[in-house]
Amino acid sequence: MHELSVCNALLVQVERVAAEHGATCVASITVRVGPLSGVEPDLLRNAYPIAAAGSIAATAELTLEPADIVVACTVCAKESPASVNRLLCGHCGDFRTRVVSGDELMLMQVRFGAQAEASSALAG
Ligand SMILES: [Zn+2]
Repeated sequence: MHELSVCNALLVQVERVAAEHGATCVASITVRVGPLSGVEPDLLRNAYPIAAAGSIAATAELTLEPADIVVACTVCAKESPASVNRLLCGHCGDFRTRVVSGDELMLMQVRFGAQAEASSALAG
């Protein structure tokens, strides 16, 4: 199950951030999921408790933050919003675009149980 391995990878990041802050409990984590990431948010939500069981984030609340799709045009060099099935330039209509945003799966925030809090973009 793809989403389970995605959760495991996220939990590795969460545990690293928690270790850096000396936290022993994670209250919530926020993950940005782009429509082109290949990850189904509902499946991710279902897989999370299974992956997190026994970990530092076992009781953490999972918040999934949707991301917008943005493409950059290779013809007119402008950026524009796009939809999953229509990655066309919004300015000149050309199909030769590359995805700037919308394919990310990113750990955005980790909130610890006690007092410490880390808010960082852990791109990767
Ligand atoms: Zn264009």
